Amino acid sequence: MLVAGNWKMHTDIDAARALARDVVDSVGDPGDVTVVVCPPFVSLSAVAAEIAGTPVGLGAQNMHAQDAGAFTGEVSAPMLTSAGCRYVILGHSERRQFFGETDEGVCAKIGQAHAHGLVPIVCVGETLEERKAGKAEEVVGRQLAHSLRGAAPGSPDRLAIAYEPVWAIGTGETATPDQAQEMHAFIRVRLNEQFGPQTARALHILYGGSVKPGNAAELFGQTDVDGGLIGGASLKGEDFAAIARAG
Ligand code: PEP
Repeated sequence: MLVAGNWKMHTDIDAARALARDVVDSVGDPGDVTVVVCPPFVSLSAVAAEIAGTPVGLGAQNMHAQDAGAFTGEVSAPMLTSAGCRYVILGHSERRQFFGETDEGVCAKIGQAHAHGLVPIVCVGETLEERKAGKAEEVVGRQLAHSLRGAAPGSPDRLAIAYEPVWAIGTGETATPDQAQEMHAFIRVRLNEQFGPQTARALHILYGGSVKPGNAAELFGQTDVDGGLIGGASLKGEDFAAIARAG
């Protein structure tokens, strides 16, 4: 199980440090669950110092596809590793919706993440209109095919997929466990076709979209749900820890 907290554009440096401490104290020993926090870029170093020597890992919310250059406002993979990151969220629906992120861009970033030893958490998911039109699998299948083209994780712990139905993100509306399982099983089949059964079985497929302490256990109890990408509920240490305990 992998449970990652996406803090989005919340917390200044002091608040991030305090939340990281709260997460560490609340999570305690997570057992078999890998727990990761993804603060804003400016807080990565402060959070890295706060979680050093604890079981909580560090991730970023995005990165650029090149090492360095004239890309004002961007942050590269070597910068993230130097700040202590092991994980990076790529292709989050908010990046796609507000910043023009494409599957092709995500694909380039995945290659770059792997080249620098980062574990990409690749987000896919359909909108409500696409689901209502019966196109959820078609959309997610296309996102997977295009963004994972050429991906070579090497081992299953070097890639995670997050299924995040856009209609469930930050809305309070969660996919039912059956809906989540159905899509996760579909994703696993696609991963199997690309990476073979051994890797596909072991890759983490996370569910994201209004996961809370009250619904985490049922979602994580589904055969193909291997953890969660948590937005709002990751901003409270105790709630996030309760979700991680459900893993
Ligand atoms: C997310 O941003 O990845 C997310 C799942 O948000 P929330 O848990 O708030 O729906």
